[in-house]
Formats: sequence, C-alpha cells, structure tokens
Amino acid sequence: MPELPEVETVRRGLEPVMTGQRIALAQVNRPDLRWPFPENMAARLTGQRVLGLRRRSKYILCDLEGGETLLIHLGMSGRMLISGAQVGAFAHPHPAPEKHDHVVLDMADGARITFNDARRFGAMDLARTDDVDAHKWLTVLGPEPLGNNFDEAHLVQAFKGRRTPIKSALLDQGIVAGLGNIYVCETLFRAGIHPTRPVGQISERRVKSLVPIIRDVLNEAIAAGGSSLKDYRRADGELGYFQHNFDVYGREGLPCRAEGCNSVVKRIVQSGRSSFYCPTCQR
Ligand SMILES: [Zn+2]
Repeated sequence: MPELPEVETVRRGLEPVMTGQRIALAQVNRPDLRWPFPENMAARLTGQRVLGLRRRSKYILCDLEGGETLLIHLGMSGRMLISGAQVGAFAHPHPAPEKHDHVVLDMADGARITFNDARRFGAMDLARTDDVDAHKWLTVLGPEPLGNNFDEAHLVQAFKGRRTPIKSALLDQGIVAGLGNIYVCETLFRAGIHPTRPVGQISERRVKSLVPIIRDVLNEAIAAGGSSLKDYRRADGELGYFQHNFDVYGREGLPCRAEGCNSVVKRIVQSGRSSFYCPTCQR
C-alpha cells in the first residue's frame, strides 16, 4: 500500500510530464473505482492544461487551467505508468492496454499517463480549486507532517491526558495526515517508544522528539524514492514503489539494528495491524 513517500515519489515523477501540458484526451474506462467518478470526468479533463501538481497527505492534487482540481488517491494497488515521453534518458513506447487500466490521459505532446488499479481501492474526484481544501477527503485531515503546522506544541496538545496507544494516535489522520503503518513503526523505533504506550504517559520531551524523527523518516524515504525514480523510468515508466531499508518494519525475528542491542524484533497486532518493535530499545 503506498504511503506518503510513495505518493510524493509518484507526484514528482508525474510533474515533468504533466505540468504545463494540455490533456489532449482523457479516457475513463469504468464508472467508478472505490467510489463513483465525478460526472463527465473525461469531458471535464479533456482539453485542460495542467497548472501544477500538489500533494496533501496521500492525495495528489492536479490543478487545471479551468479552475478545477483533480484529486487522485492510489488506494491499495494503484499504479501510474508513463509512456511515450522522454523521461530521463529513455522514452517508453505505449504499452498494450491492460485489463485494469481505468483512466488514461493522453497529453498534447504525446506522453500518456495510465492509472492502473487491480484492486480498485483508488479514487478520483474533481472539485473547484478554490474550495478543494473543504473537500470531504481533505477536510478531515490534520496537519501535514512535513508542513509548518505540524510542530511540537500540536503533538503535545493532541496527546495530553489521552489513553490512546501511541501507535494508534500516530495513525490517526486527524492528528497528523498521511502517516501509515510502516513509517509509524519506524518512527517509534527511532524514538525508543513502545507502540502500546498510552500517549498521555509519554514525557513531553519524548513527545516533542517525535516531530523531527517523523520528518527525518519521511524525508529519507522520499529521498530513496527519488533515487529509485531514475531506475523506474529506465525499467518501464512505472512510478510509485521502491525498495526500502527498514529498521523494524517486516523484520520480525531478525536482530535489532541498534548498536549494542542483542534483542530480536517482535511483532504484535494492534487494531488489526502489525506493529514491529524492539522490546529492549522501545519502552
Ligand atoms: Zn533493540
């Protein structure tokens, strides 16, 4: 499942292909994904010049010349493929259409962006750019973890007196937007905080330490995605998924990576999702 760094990587990969270009033809091959597509989506996209691509949490926001913004969510398995464009040193020929190619954007310069989503948990919608922050998908979101509104005071306030386990609190999109299971596990390992610890019991000093740790974890993953972009362009024009080197995520039973620690990584299930942690390093 793509998390914030993967979505940011996709955004950065799409940007040079879409920004400033006109959508010559939009094809929408089914009425819905997770939710119905907006009415007349193909017609509303066709002919529009793309002013820019932004990201809010795990949504890509594509601002169009006519005053609407296309909101894109990759869901569980959504992939963006670029073809026909000179990306890096390589141009990819258009691939043969595949079964799960749901939305295809042919840009005026010959580039094609194909949204393929086998499990159909992805979503797209259109909203007026002026009102896009009030869209129902975005209005429930807390501050962006890499933005200015996410700071120490915000976390201290959000955690004060609450009994929620830290793992659940950091997954709460209203407290901080876009953090998913993987990067919460990695953040808590670096912070030395046990995933079940109630947030109200964590010292203010340790709560504050989470802000730079979250930023570092995400920025490092975005940087890894950026370097993988070149490889993906080279391989097949597909964007979005890349190899990571996690400290705890997916490493149950393997040695803890902290220097001088002889423990192995453990896994527990919290709210139906796996938490990976070191029982010695995380308290
Ligand atoms: Zn350890």
